Amino acid sequence: MEIFFLYLFVIGCCIGSFINVVIHRLPINQSIVYPSSSCPKCNAKIKWFDNLPIISWFLLNGKCRTCKTKIAFSYPIVELFTGLLVCLNLYAQPTIYSQQPIYITILFGIIFNTILFTLAILDFKYFWLPRVITLGGLVFGITASLYVDLINDFYQFNYLINTLSASFFGFTFFYLLSRIGKKIFNKPVIGGGDAKLSALIGSWLGISGLFLSIWLAFISAGIFVIFGMIFKKIKRNQKIPFGVFLAMSGSLVWYFGNEVFLKIVFLRI
Ligand SMILES: [Zn+2]
Repeated sequence: MEIFFLYLFVIGCCIGSFINVVIHRLPINQSIVYPSSSCPKCNAKIKWFDNLPIISWFLLNGKCRTCKTKIAFSYPIVELFTGLLVCLNLYAQPTIYSQQPIYITILFGIIFNTILFTLAILDFKYFWLPRVITLGGLVFGITASLYVDLINDFYQFNYLINTLSASFFGFTFFYLLSRIGKKIFNKPVIGGGDAKLSALIGSWLGISGLFLSIWLAFISAGIFVIFGMIFKKIKRNQKIPFGVFLAMSGSLVWYFGNEVFLKIVFLRI
């Protein structure tokens, strides 16, 4: 078990390293596979031994080997956090796949949660939920549910129907919300990215998981705004990256399962 934990952690850190590439290159429209990493300041190619997740940052003391420009601390943090997110899938209890073997929940969990983490960072930094990731993740999620139907000989396609309808619902809900919001406030209150993110979450969590994620996202965003205003960190009318709350909620519902949150919704603590 410990070996497997460590193994997952190393894989997670490498995925985190890739997430770093995505969040730095996607916003400037650069390819994420080519060219290989180089220092943005002096353009020196980064050698493989200076590109190891977490370790290299500390060995280099957070500076480029060639020009000594500072490398942001966010690099090792993203790698570490992804490592932990991936490990935690050993203990994940996603309700939709609770009847399935653990390799399913681990594998699916790694894909789903790293996608959500990447989107959360991009929405936080740029108020941007790239369509290529939300729609890509959505297709992935629906294919995953179809795969489970097929390996279980469920030719009624229970899982597929669940995830497809959840995606449809998730998208429609936020789409209508943004239309209504626009009418009332005369400006966009919810971005189109949120509708696609919500469809993505539905494709992995199914109907009930999606409901709980949306509920949790509104509650947590609300609490965040209230505290932010009390401590005068947020101004009235300030834009909030709602995708961060949606992504975080989707992850929490995946890891803990629906039951925990249902208890809170119905105050059965
Ligand atoms: Zn440099």
